Amino acid sequence: MENCLFCKFVSGEFKTEIVFENDDFIIIKDIAPKAKNHFLAIPKKHFKYLAEMTQEDSALVGRILKTIPTLADKLELGEGYRLVINQGDDAGQTVPHLHIHVLSGQKMEWNPA
Ligand code: AMP
Ligand code: ZN
Repeated sequence: MENCLFCKFVSGEFKTEIVFENDDFIIIKDIAPKAKNHFLAIPKKHFKYLAEMTQEDSALVGRILKTIPTLADKLELGEGYRLVINQGDDAGQTVPHLHIHVLSGQKMEWNPA
């Protein structure tokens, strides 16, 4: 999609360190970390909302979720991790391309507000 930051990372038009890549998605480091370790798992296919997903998209997201724990060393998931998907303005979604935040490396409070 034109003018989408994460599509530009996927296509290589914008350069960033790719921590992991397969046919389904890339993982990059978040530029403004909200935890000691903060990665973003970004599907190569552009869509904004879970609500838009086709059956194939949901299988894709399932494969991403299954792959993340296999990257425990690379992502330093050792003592536990948190996955977050912000959906819409009230949740604070700022990039309109679905992505999964992968947070770890510290004890985390449970404070969704
Ligand atoms: P969200 O607010 O859930 O849409 O998440 C978007 C995330 O993208 C935020 O945590 C930002 O810090 C992160 N972000 C924005 N620009 C960049 C960038 N150039 N490189 C890496 N992460 C970015
Ligand atoms: Zn996109």
